[in-house]
Amino acid sequence: MDSKPVETVDVVVIGAGFSGLYAIHRLRGEHSVVCFEAGDGVGGTWYWNRYPGARVDIQSVEYSYGFDEDLQQEWSWPEYFSAQPDLERYANHVADRFGLRDAIRLSNPVQRLRFDADTNHWHVHTGRGDHVVCRYVVAATGALSIPNVPAWPGRDRFPGKILHTTEWPREGIDFSGQRVGFIGTGSTGIQAMPIIAEQADHLTVFQRTPAYCMPSGNRPLDAAYEAEWKADYTPRRQRILQTWGVSTIEYPSYSALDCTPEQREEILEKGWQSKSAFQLLVAFTDVQTDRAANEIVCEFVRNKIRSIVHDPVVAERLCPTTYPIGGKRLCIGNGYYEMYNRDNVTLVDVRSVPIVEFTENGLRTAEAEYPLDVIVTATGFDALTGSMMRIDIEGLGGVKLADKWAEGPTTYLGAMVAGFPNLFMIHGPMTPGAQAQMITTGEWQVNWTAGVIADMARDGYTRIDTTPDAEAWWADEVNAVSMATVHRFADSWYNARNIEGKKGGFMIYVGGFPRYTALSNGAVQDGYKGFVRS
Ligand code: NAP
Repeated sequence: MDSKPVETVDVVVIGAGFSGLYAIHRLRGEHSVVCFEAGDGVGGTWYWNRYPGARVDIQSVEYSYGFDEDLQQEWSWPEYFSAQPDLERYANHVADRFGLRDAIRLSNPVQRLRFDADTNHWHVHTGRGDHVVCRYVVAATGALSIPNVPAWPGRDRFPGKILHTTEWPREGIDFSGQRVGFIGTGSTGIQAMPIIAEQADHLTVFQRTPAYCMPSGNRPLDAAYEAEWKADYTPRRQRILQTWGVSTIEYPSYSALDCTPEQREEILEKGWQSKSAFQLLVAFTDVQTDRAANEIVCEFVRNKIRSIVHDPVVAERLCPTTYPIGGKRLCIGNGYYEMYNRDNVTLVDVRSVPIVEFTENGLRTAEAEYPLDVIVTATGFDALTGSMMRIDIEGLGGVKLADKWAEGPTTYLGAMVAGFPNLFMIHGPMTPGAQAQMITTGEWQVNWTAGVIADMARDGYTRIDTTPDAEAWWADEVNAVSMATVHRFADSWYNARNIEGKKGGFMIYVGGFPRYTALSNGAVQDGYKGFVRS
């Protein structure tokens, strides 16, 4: 029984990350809006991920909001690739500047959603006992918000700290004199480890799959470069939407297979030195689509690893060989490979000899026990579906989302799920997500959603749903475009193969943001094709 009075608003936004904040701002001109946030502050990903070295991998001039000209003119980023504290500061600035805080209820996670088919309202129940009835729910719950920690036994026996990188204490951790075990060599691990290695007595890296990592080229932001962006923001923001999310890299028109070995080497070296993260992935037109072209770039990076890492055995262990570059999101680092030249860093292969358990001394693999004082897990996320699945969501006919998605997510345009009317997702499963740039494309999705909601009132409807046929059509589209790229050749959070036993298939739309927007706008313009409004 709820002790608080039931409240009624037009829209509930779930999550006060970057998309959620913008959703509040965009919608509350015309609607009453309440936002529930699990954390005790705003910023979403950039609130939770405060591990050492956490930093964006896309230039901040473009990884920022474009909805307000004054905001983008006034704000200054200190570095090309901003660190977590600056991103969190920015989120807080936006919340204050646009007066969003009175709509946000912090430390108050949504636990249950139930659709009332008689009134076409959602009932939203939260951890603090709030019960809000609303017409629409906008779930900006984040693609990467639920940590994945493999269920190794013995956690209780280990006397030291075991931390996931998303659960980092605000005051930080002093690793001086500590023997640190670090599990996970994805984007997060690669950022955190070089900094931890500088402090720790010893760092033991437990690597299951080596990563391709490109230097970020981070540096203080150049005033002239910032001025260039500020003088020209509108077309530049447009260009972000017209590329696959990064406008600051060059998109050449030649295939790797048409270049001589010398030309390739020169182009790739230029890309490596470019200080433009991700340039290697578009060094040639076919890096992301052709295995032979891709392999040329893979071997270039392996040779970089061999030239940076002094110990040839360690270097070979760091060379990825089992999947194409870009098949998983490319890691962008600062001194990652160089870190292995330190005397206090050891690399352990846990692919051939897996981790078995935590012990009273540290961590045990199938072959050895490693004495440790602290264990850090950067083992990724129950991505895309995790944040929705942990909410008890009940749609039409009492069907639960967790049951509907038991074999993997079904969506139409990544935005809606059949049988769960008036519930919109931002960066949901089967949207471009990290294959585009999350702030700008999140803004785009919020604007699209706001347009759909506005059309409902204009056209006199109170319920919008999609259909299983539309979901099947979108699944075909998501799968078809995934067959055209190298992503299918890697096990990653894109295809649910980062977590043993997770079902779901391909969950990211890799057909490009321009195609995604064309299809989403097209559906609306085509009389809400694939939707049912009543
Ligand atoms: P991730 O890419 O999923 O990497 C997780 C790591 O943990 C992988 O090395 C994985 O090995 C390892 N792992 C998982 N389970 C394991 C097990 N049972 N035993 C041993 N190792 C295990 O996660 P992430 O590094 O947190 O990054 C996730 C995404 O967040 C990135 O792709 C990116 O989109 C985003 N991100 C962005 C930034 C940025 O903007 N700079 C920074 C951090 C993260 P396998 O590869 O073998 O599975």
